[in-house]
Amino acid sequence: MNDSFAEMRRRVVEYLVRLGYVKSEKVKKALLSVPREEFVPEPYREYAYDDHPLPIGYGQTISAIHMVAIMTEALDPVPGDKVLEIGTGSGYQAAVLAEIVAKMDPSKRGHVYTIERIPELGEFARRNLDKTGYSDYVTVIVGDGTLGYPEEAPYDRIMITAAAPDIPKPLIEQLREGGRIVAPVGDLYVQRLVIADKVGGVLKRKYGIECVFVPLIGEYGWREE
Ligand code: SAH
Repeated sequence: MNDSFAEMRRRVVEYLVRLGYVKSEKVKKALLSVPREEFVPEPYREYAYDDHPLPIGYGQTISAIHMVAIMTEALDPVPGDKVLEIGTGSGYQAAVLAEIVAKMDPSKRGHVYTIERIPELGEFARRNLDKTGYSDYVTVIVGDGTLGYPEEAPYDRIMITAAAPDIPKPLIEQLREGGRIVAPVGDLYVQRLVIADKVGGVLKRKYGIECVFVPLIGEYGWREE
């Protein structure tokens, strides 16, 4: 069974390379290393490598694997980076980031801090990261990620994996000069990927593809209904 998951993983990564979503060796290696089937709820394991978002409970989803590839390529993390992710969900994206910043080059131990607002999902992600061997490289924090996590700032890279009305101000403050933030920004129905570098204390923005994420809910996000 494990062999067949490894085979499905290899095939989907090949497909993502062919479509041009996976461009770098580091993203390819990371996607080949993280067992995505361990991050989806049991009934969906066999669909883990279908290129669709899947439900993880509480109305939330694990992003489609091509979206993880696009976001990770856009963020361009390097070994040794300190990364902040907002929207832990299943923990899969955090593991992919950890693979690059903390595992790929053993001489450069970076770290991923990831924030989730739904406590049960924070717990789900911790369990998934634990059983796949990522818990030393990823810290899961339960709280409002729009406020960031000042305790460990500044960050080299910040990724938001929920739809934001705009990039939350605290996150801009907690990004180091020269650092990069990637986030889906727009309304509740459709967003555009923003790739922004902090230059001279302000964000220089570029725009990527259109996408659809679940809402970022918090003080600097959308209001809870
Ligand atoms: N990156 C995840 C998928 C994210 S889905 C993965 O790899 O599986 C978006 C997640 O963001 C949801 O779990 C949702 O609960 C969470 N979220 C929404 N608003 C948030 C906020 N203000 N702070 C932290 N997490 C938030």
